[in-house]
Amino acid sequence: MSNNRQSTTARIIKRTKVDGTVKFVIQQRHFIFFWWWVDAWVNNDISTQDSFLTLEEAKKHLCYFDGSKAKEEIIIEMKKKLKSLDEHNSNSWSNYSSMFENSPKPNGIACPKCGEELMDSQPMATLTSHPPKKDIHCPSCNYRGYRIA
Ligand SMILES: [Zn+2]
Repeated sequence: MSNNRQSTTARIIKRTKVDGTVKFVIQQRHFIFFWWWVDAWVNNDISTQDSFLTLEEAKKHLCYFDGSKAKEEIIIEMKKKLKSLDEHNSNSWSNYSSMFENSPKPNGIACPKCGEELMDSQPMATLTSHPPKKDIHCPSCNYRGYRIA
């Protein structure tokens, strides 16, 4: 009995019901009570069928129950897109240098005289007043003044 238990992992039985219908069922040893033969679905969380109308069909499916594992191969791998060091350095430098750029920059505030957009005259410079202020000017009408920084 013990030899048989080791080598036989699955079998096909012919099951004839009392009404005469015949099915071919793949069976395996029960996963705990190994001396019991049970229909294969008992052991496998089955997505494969274990009972068939013909022996031929049953044989075709027997391979699912002999312990073989599906083969899996990686066909395509998506890799994270990387930028080159040069790309990184030149982008970072232009961000960094524009942060410290001190030439006049539009600041989104309307000129109190003509209504055009004002410029921060020296974006990097803040007057140490209380509160701190920045020089502003209007490129259209030459208005000059200060805004709270
Ligand atoms: Zn103006």
